[in-house]
Amino acid sequence: MLEKIRVRFAPSPTGPLHIGGARSALFNYLLAKKTNGDFILRIEDTDLERSSLASEENIKQSLRWLGINWNEGIDVGGPFGPYRQTERLDIYRKYVDKLLEAGFAYRCYCTEEEIAAEREMLMAKGELPRYLGKCRCLTPEQEQEYVKQGRKPVIRFRVPENETIIIEDLVRGNVTFESNGIGDFVIIKSDGIPTYNFAVVIDDSTMHITHVIRGEEHLSNTPRQLLIYQALGLKPPKFAHISLILGKDRSKMSKRHGSTSVVNYQEAGFLPEALVNYLALLGWAPEKEEEIFSMDELIEEFSLERVAKNPAVFDMDKLNWLNGYYIRESSVEKITELAIPYLRKEGLISDDISAQEYQWLSQVVGAIKHKVVSISQIPAYVKVFFPMEISVKDEEAKVILAGEQVSQVARVLLSKLEQSEEINPASVKKMLKEITKELKLGGKLVYMPLRVALTGEMHGPELHDLIAFIGLKEVRNRLAQTLPEVIS
Ligand code: GLU
Repeated sequence: MLEKIRVRFAPSPTGPLHIGGARSALFNYLLAKKTNGDFILRIEDTDLERSSLASEENIKQSLRWLGINWNEGIDVGGPFGPYRQTERLDIYRKYVDKLLEAGFAYRCYCTEEEIAAEREMLMAKGELPRYLGKCRCLTPEQEQEYVKQGRKPVIRFRVPENETIIIEDLVRGNVTFESNGIGDFVIIKSDGIPTYNFAVVIDDSTMHITHVIRGEEHLSNTPRQLLIYQALGLKPPKFAHISLILGKDRSKMSKRHGSTSVVNYQEAGFLPEALVNYLALLGWAPEKEEEIFSMDELIEEFSLERVAKNPAVFDMDKLNWLNGYYIRESSVEKITELAIPYLRKEGLISDDISAQEYQWLSQVVGAIKHKVVSISQIPAYVKVFFPMEISVKDEEAKVILAGEQVSQVARVLLSKLEQSEEINPASVKKMLKEITKELKLGGKLVYMPLRVALTGEMHGPELHDLIAFIGLKEVRNRLAQTLPEVIS
């Protein structure tokens, strides 16, 4: 029987979930779901200073929002916990002892100043900064002396000399590193906390991870990790390093290029479906030409073979387009619900709205939802449906409003509205058509001035939607401001 696939997402909780991290999580999740495997969420919080529970919460919230749920790990538990590294110190200790005993690791008493001086000296010579092994062969007496001086040791891994390390990467093919360039690296810091490169090996191994899918920035860590697997006689997982995400100018994606945290996209009114769809296409190429994929379709279609080696360029226009698509495809009820907090924030609606107001609001949202690319744009688009003061600022709009036919057009509209039993978009649409016919005017001479008179702007929602949803009273109010002569 084939081994069950077990993958993990192992963020360091040192900030909000990043777009790149979300993509790694997604690829892992897709592979797990596709193969009925396990997807594990592990928190790598060994950087005590920079890790925070707030970041951990943010990461979990963002993953859940995206629909990336873990079936093992932090919060949900599982057979190989704990799933937070700072709760696993006893586990690491056992493996460190093994390495120390077998001579694969040693205590290093060099001070930070000594290490810094060594780095500088190597860099000045144009060499790779690395630890040259001063403490590699200390005698017990020398060690005692250092301890007496009060020095606190770190534990370093003894990197073998002249070894070629080959990573058989599922995305990048074979990638080769020479051990001589590596230098003995720290696996346990002086406060007893393991470093990432060590803890990750012990965790991936004891959690029976079969595939490690992570960002390319970790590729240079992998040879170190492989050396630890080798020293401990453990079987390494398969590795897949996915390419960096670049900004449009082809430099590494950073805040300069737009938001980098998932929560920013959530707050800006993106739908999780759109972000998931977009992230999947960042580095993975579907077999079909299609670009729209639901999570279920992604699970169906995903394969590591179709993950590209070259970097992916973050294209905001495409994300906007996808988001607009998902907004159009979503029900009016869903988009109205999502829009409510944004409308509240803008002061357009109060905290509790009546069923009638809700009904009206959803019609208004329905009238503009095809125009927006994010939920946060909705207040700007629906503002014009709420009672407002009209001011005409644009010169061209002023000219349109001053047209000789305008007062008559407005008068006819008013009388039709006054006489009609029911005002709804269809009935108003009919009225507007009748006006053009009755007054023998081209559409432009009817629609444009009315739009300007009722909104102050030359662009906006469909005129019949606007008139129907603001209703007769507000039509009067607005005309009283822009065409006072028509209000008797
Ligand atoms: N804690 C590491 C990070 O957040 C995980 C890297 C890995 O997946 O091994 O970058």
